[in-house]
Amino acid sequence: MLHIILKNKGDRLLKERYPWVFNNQIKNLLNNPKAGDIVSVLDSKGRFLGKGFFNPISSIVVRILSFEDIDIDENFFYKRITQSIEKRKNLISKADAFRLISSEADGLPTLIVDKYRDYLVMQTLGVATEMRKNLFADILCQILKPKGIYERNDVPIRKLEGLSSNKGLLMGKIPELITITENRIRFFVDIKNGQKTGFYIDQRDNRNIVRDFSKEAKVLDCFCYTGGFSIYALYYGANHVTGIDISEESIKLAKRNAALNNFKDKKFIFNIANVFDELKNFDRCGEKFDLVVLDPPSFTRKKQTLKAAIRGYKEINLRAMKILKPGGVLITCSCSYHIGLELFKSMLIQASSDAKRTVRILDIRNHPMDHPILLQLKESSYLKCLVLEIV
Ligand code: SAH
Repeated sequence: MLHIILKNKGDRLLKERYPWVFNNQIKNLLNNPKAGDIVSVLDSKGRFLGKGFFNPISSIVVRILSFEDIDIDENFFYKRITQSIEKRKNLISKADAFRLISSEADGLPTLIVDKYRDYLVMQTLGVATEMRKNLFADILCQILKPKGIYERNDVPIRKLEGLSSNKGLLMGKIPELITITENRIRFFVDIKNGQKTGFYIDQRDNRNIVRDFSKEAKVLDCFCYTGGFSIYALYYGANHVTGIDISEESIKLAKRNAALNNFKDKKFIFNIANVFDELKNFDRCGEKFDLVVLDPPSFTRKKQTLKAAIRGYKEINLRAMKILKPGGVLITCSCSYHIGLELFKSMLIQASSDAKRTVRILDIRNHPMDHPILLQLKESSYLKCLVLEIV
């Protein structure tokens, strides 16, 4: 048996069912476990604490799979994958794109699987899941019979686990574009070259709230990607929508998404531009909106650059507040894990003070139920979406 023995008091977090073991908690290793092996974690007196994936290269040396002393074999993975899929059965009527397996939050650390209609996208973000990716693909084929499985492992986080960037076909075939329906709205998704696994499925429920604020509204969708919030606003009766994104490819697809849903050209404009510049321009020209959406990429992936990130968030939020009509609505998001809700709110207080606008919070939201948050693992919560009335 491969064992990891923790230092005296190194077991506190694990006893609270926190699923990660760090280097500094470890006293010694028994029988020379290798990266990707399944190990048992014991306390300093040799009592069993949990079993998990081992990776000595990562700062997270063990990621727990079970707090019970059970066999971790093919059958175990088959059961966990089946459970994850079963839990999402009720989503099938709402959307045909959602997260099927969400890593630690589904008891399968470093494994992510997104479903786009009959196609699956897989990410294996640790050595142990990377080694077993064909097993996971086989299990997914048995349960779901997908037409294709694509690997989107072209993500920088893999470096921290000692893995290289990689993408490609794992099984079947994947068309250039897939059409999905989300809350009755249709989108083209580019699984092979799009951002993330092709679509920001974690914003599904937040996109749907524009329904309440779109009727006859003049809408500005900043960082629109392939038109997510824009197309919803058009669907729910906006008079005019402006979508802005810096990526040419995304704007091309946003235009095609508007056409896919039969919206008339004069109702919308999609521009390739830098949101920071455009917000300044609108402010300078005095152009006003009823609804502004801010859904930027993460401005920081580390603690060290937090201050600069806050400055960025404040800049766009301040400008957005200034260009909203009295009583207008700002939907403002952050997907930076390092910017918690309280920090995000304190940035908004500064923005509201500089913009000289009173702000009321109408709703505080996060990711939808197919991206669950493990109670003990604050790292599994990253998205904040605040709906604000700008008085
Ligand atoms: N709201 C979108 C997702 C936005 S993701 C949806 O619902 O699908 C963030 C987007 O910001 C990406 O498409 C990226 O290309 C874009 N982006 C990043 N920096 C930008 C900038 N400075 N100006 C404009 N767009 C930017």
